[in-house]
Amino acid sequence: MPELPEVETTRKGLASAFVGKMITGLIVRRDGLRYPFPQDFDSIIGTKVTEIRRRAKYLLIDLDDGRVLLSHLGMSGRYSLINGQDIAGFSGQEVETGTYTSGKYADVEASKYGSRTGFSGKHDHFELQFEDGSIAIYTDPRRFGIVKLFNSEEEEIQPLLEILGPEPFEDWNAKLLARKFSRKTTSVKVAILDQRVVVGVGNIYACEALFAAKINPTTRACDLVNKSGAPSKKLESFVDEIKSVLERALAAGGSTLNDFAAVDGTLGYFPHQFNVYGREGHPCKAQNCDRLIERIQQGGRSTFLCPKCQS
Ligand SMILES: [Zn+2]
Repeated sequence: MPELPEVETTRKGLASAFVGKMITGLIVRRDGLRYPFPQDFDSIIGTKVTEIRRRAKYLLIDLDDGRVLLSHLGMSGRYSLINGQDIAGFSGQEVETGTYTSGKYADVEASKYGSRTGFSGKHDHFELQFEDGSIAIYTDPRRFGIVKLFNSEEEEIQPLLEILGPEPFEDWNAKLLARKFSRKTTSVKVAILDQRVVVGVGNIYACEALFAAKINPTTRACDLVNKSGAPSKKLESFVDEIKSVLERALAAGGSTLNDFAAVDGTLGYFPHQFNVYGREGHPCKAQNCDRLIERIQQGGRSTFLCPKCQS
């Protein structure tokens, strides 16, 4: 599932390709994803992208007519970019622009893009076309993604956005987390995934940060707060490790960004080096630890931990 670093990397890639450019075409191949697509989706044709922001895992694409196109990648969404020259060079075909097409896969054949993009057609649900001939294809096999369109002055009252807690890199610290945790009797692992507590700490990075901070994931959140309401040393370490694991992932994503077009046009995914996530049954990587990584279920999600390092 795309987490904050992947979304931020996607944001950077989309921004570097499309800010300042006009949307000249839109192809939609189904009615919607998790929710129906905006009824006036095609009204973005003719607008220019002025900025692409991120709030939690929502991409916010600012249009020059004062509206915002919100895009969430859901469980399996991704954007692939193809620049106009690549398409012309690959297939010898002109990109259609100024068009709005709605239909089921029929309108654009996958072969137009060839294997260069990984484009299969089946899970490519919409496509934005730009004035320079470049395109962004949105692919999402599980279709939990979200697309919304609203006026920028209504951003604060968007139900999806208004419940969100602080961004981990913006004035967020252990003191604030202690305040949120002081009465929470749920496990720290479940509590940290709550987007009202802090945004963008998904399952992978929660597991990794808990391991790095040597916290047992089943610890009650309130037990990491001192009686005075101040954060415990462990909670302080947890916050540091969350920032550090996210920063490393962001750096890894950034370093592969330059290659995206050469590889497969897919943005935001990069090889991860995890200590516990996905490593059930493998030896713990900590020095002088001879235990195997275990997996437990918490709140319907898998948690990976070392029973010794995180006892
Ligand atoms: Zn260990």
